[in-house]
Amino acid sequence: MNKPFNRKRALALLGLSLGCAFSAQAVKIKIVNADLPGVGFNDTTPVAPVGGNEGTTLGAQRMNVYLNVAKKWAKHLPEGGPDILVNADWPALTCSSTSATLGSAGANSVWRDFPNAPYPGTWYSSALANTLAGADLDEGTEPEINSHFNVNLGQPGCLDGTSFYLGLDGNAPSNTVNFAVVLMHEVGHGLGFQALTSGSSGARISDGVNAYPAQWERWMYDNTAGKTWLDMTDAERKASAVNPRNLVWVGANVTASVPAVLKKGTPELLVKSTENPAIVGTYQVGAASFGPTLATRIKAPIGRVIDQADGKTGLACNPLTGDNAALVAGRIALVDRGTCAFTIKVKNAQDAGAVGVIVADNTAGGPPAGMSGTDATITIPSVRITLDDGAKLKAVLTGDVRMSDNVKGILHVNKDQYAGADAQGRALLYTPNPYQSGSSVSHYDTIAFRNLLMEPAINSDLPVYRVTPPKDLTLPLLQDIGW
Ligand SMILES: [Zn+2]
Repeated sequence: MNKPFNRKRALALLGLSLGCAFSAQAVKIKIVNADLPGVGFNDTTPVAPVGGNEGTTLGAQRMNVYLNVAKKWAKHLPEGGPDILVNADWPALTCSSTSATLGSAGANSVWRDFPNAPYPGTWYSSALANTLAGADLDEGTEPEINSHFNVNLGQPGCLDGTSFYLGLDGNAPSNTVNFAVVLMHEVGHGLGFQALTSGSSGARISDGVNAYPAQWERWMYDNTAGKTWLDMTDAERKASAVNPRNLVWVGANVTASVPAVLKKGTPELLVKSTENPAIVGTYQVGAASFGPTLATRIKAPIGRVIDQADGKTGLACNPLTGDNAALVAGRIALVDRGTCAFTIKVKNAQDAGAVGVIVADNTAGGPPAGMSGTDATITIPSVRITLDDGAKLKAVLTGDVRMSDNVKGILHVNKDQYAGADAQGRALLYTPNPYQSGSSVSHYDTIAFRNLLMEPAINSDLPVYRVTPPKDLTLPLLQDIGW
């Protein structure tokens, strides 16, 4: 087949004209203001200087932060490459009173089989393709990156009362979101921190005739399937995108940097049983915001709460009596989620003598979420497991005391495993089930600690402008894909 150079596929078309270009001082990453008069970067609302940002209007301050971020990012990119044009505007993005999309960004187009492409027949984000080719493949006619920021943030109905902090110094007050951190994150996507291949369908981007893999696929390894996305069918990739904490990045730069960046210690449940090999193994857990952590190891038989005075099964919403009290005394109680608060279940189990609690989820999906609530009188640790894992345990634990004694649970922190990596020390990608459009696959997993810039939500403890080890794993991934 004839493969011409510079095959290109536009990813998104913006109806807005390119306004005047603001050039970053490093003349490497150029921000293109695509807002209409009076909007976003052109908002003329007067503001006072903040955190080293001397802009006198809201729009000017916003642009000052972006120019600063462009300069910081440019320092990490190879010398001498073509300029990177970043289209930027402030539309209304998804939000509610309690959550909001702060921003979004990605490549404007993807390219394959350009001069110096490391792998043939493989899509690259335009900024990276240009840099590898040593030339602007579209000859400067289009931006390489599109970026959008939520113009309604802080308004009623859009994370009410929370505004972007526009200082340059990293000292964002607690009721604000540091815009500089958001920009560092979004430019990271634009530079190539983006799977390109669809996680929701598993489909590859087509040039209109044939579909080709994206450069990410060779480093996306599914521990369950035992292969990379490059070697999968669309259906296998779709399944892998919702395989919680089992899709890892196997690029050499990230893997080498994991020990310097992530902290050791992953909370987990181990199950041992001589009579039931099918349930033996390591279970993912969600942590409770109440009671002690898993730092103190608990090992005990698992006793399942079976029935309740209210006629419900396994909920532990009432004080435990009779068989239930006998089944959990001195054991780790297994209860079902639902009907009453997590704290009530755990307290009832504690009052019956349980030494720990496992709450089995009542809705499908994963990884197991945390458990909220407060109760200072709770002194035993508790965790949440998925519906599927709960069903696995409950199939064996039917209320029989002898069987309970044969199923041992260990609640602990695995100090050999990095938080945010698999047992082999490879960074986890974010693959919750169900699929989260805009978040799944193209981020690191939220279990990562220290917190990482490229997690799907911005953590308030992130150091601003840090993309390299020992603070972060963003640049190593970009280096893995060819930067
Ligand atoms: Zn993101």
